[in-house]
Amino acid sequence: MQCLYSYFCRNMFNKPSPLQLIEDELLAKREITLFVKRDDLIHPQISGNKWRKLKYNLRAAKQQQQKRLLTFGGAYSNHIAATAAAGNIFGFETIGVIRGELVKPLNPTLDLAQQQGMKFVFVGRKEYREEKAEIAIRLQDELGSCYVIPEGGSNTLAVKGCAEIVAEVQEQLDDVPDYFCVSSGTGGTAAGLVVGLARMSLVKVFPALKGNFILDEINSLIWEFSGESYDNWQLISNYNFGGYTKWNQQLIDFINDFSAKFKLQIDPIYTGKLFYGVWNEIEKGSFKDNSTIVVIHTGGLQGILGFNQRFGNLLNYNL
Ligand SMILES: *Cc1c(COP(=O)(O)O)cnc(C)c1O
Repeated sequence: MQCLYSYFCRNMFNKPSPLQLIEDELLAKREITLFVKRDDLIHPQISGNKWRKLKYNLRAAKQQQQKRLLTFGGAYSNHIAATAAAGNIFGFETIGVIRGELVKPLNPTLDLAQQQGMKFVFVGRKEYREEKAEIAIRLQDELGSCYVIPEGGSNTLAVKGCAEIVAEVQEQLDDVPDYFCVSSGTGGTAAGLVVGLARMSLVKVFPALKGNFILDEINSLIWEFSGESYDNWQLISNYNFGGYTKWNQQLIDFINDFSAKFKLQIDPIYTGKLFYGVWNEIEKGSFKDNSTIVVIHTGGLQGILGFNQRFGNLLNYNL
């Protein structure tokens, strides 16, 4: 089913993704209008920002007549799941270089990826951290040429894809909001919003990982893509709950309550922390009264199954 440009293929994707108005006492009190950009609804397997980041990479891979995609990720990675599904739909073989050892049975993320035809190469954590470029070269010697996509999918083509969020929202609102809020891991989505906005509104970035490395990461993605620097964005770094995949009961309660109240599923790794942060920041008065906020739902819901399996069915809201 090789359909990158076909009519059929366009219809498999829910684009433009809906913009959902959220109504709540807290928002009413501050006269804030808040929308969620539902990129989680773009596609059941290639969800959210992973579709936006893959789009132009898939096109480039086709143009280069590559048959294989090679990429990197952790064992629960949304990007791994999305790349496997995209390969299956668009007719690429997929190789996933996975951080850590093979654990059997496969967790839900890798199981799904394998069902979509992805082949795995497991590498130790140190090697994974330090030698991705060498690993890619070695594997291409063995397997033949591959189109290499970085961990998390963030490169300049990903920035280009994510920049399209802005034009979509602008058309849906017939205006630009005062703020965009987005979660970040490798920073491609945040960089896309910033360049797409061309300085029109402020982007508040809520990192899911500890450490300020993401500041440089986002700035360099922006620079590589546009050759410019922008200052209409900021990091809100105090909602990572101790680091990537870390959580506490407060976060779990928030996600269960939020999901039940707004009939909106959020994930514990990225969007749960994002919405927790946004709600707290609204309470603290960090957003102007009377403003309009668009929060990007970047998807990632496939991760809930693995999270519940690891930690014991903590996310148990009924939609
Ligand atoms: C991958 C992912 C992110 C992080 O996106 P980056 O572009 O890597 O910053 C955020 N939210 C979800 C749900 C994701 O899967």
